[in-house]
Amino acid sequence: MAESLSAAVAILKKNKLKLTKQRHALLEFLLTNQGHYTDVVTVDAFMRTEFPGMSHNTVYRNLKEFEEVGIVEQNTEQERARVKYQCDFHHQHHHHFICQNCGKVIELQMCPMDFFTAQLPGCEIAGHSFELYGLCAECKAAGVTEAALVKN
Ligand SMILES: [Zn+2]
Ligand SMILES: [Zn+2]
Ligand SMILES: [Zn+2]
Repeated sequence: MAESLSAAVAILKKNKLKLTKQRHALLEFLLTNQGHYTDVVTVDAFMRTEFPGMSHNTVYRNLKEFEEVGIVEQNTEQERARVKYQCDFHHQHHHHFICQNCGKVIELQMCPMDFFTAQLPGCEIAGHSFELYGLCAECKAAGVTEAALVKN
């Protein structure tokens, strides 16, 4: 945990972003929730409780900056923007398995892009997103079923 925070602090420094009290609190909050995505509105609510004078814009701007330098990963679920503390500072580009029951995020070791570039000769691929989802081992062992998820 401590190591992850220092990795983020080093990245801020390298990008000439000051470690303000707000940014520090934001990092710690994201770090305590490192294992799953959190809605941006939840992060915003937390920050504005901690720092009553802080504007939505500042929270969103800080998150955007964190994302740009690779401290934060983001995705969208049913149009809700969500963020997560970087899983792996050594492999910032990676993909995830996400448990649909508990929300746990598991980092995948491989990017499948090479398979597809071979299938698209002459094309220029501008970007990609790739995500696996289902039930994590714990949820599966606890007897959660895919069918139960669909009903929710
Ligand atoms: Zn990740
Ligand atoms: Zn799970
Ligand atoms: Zn990839």
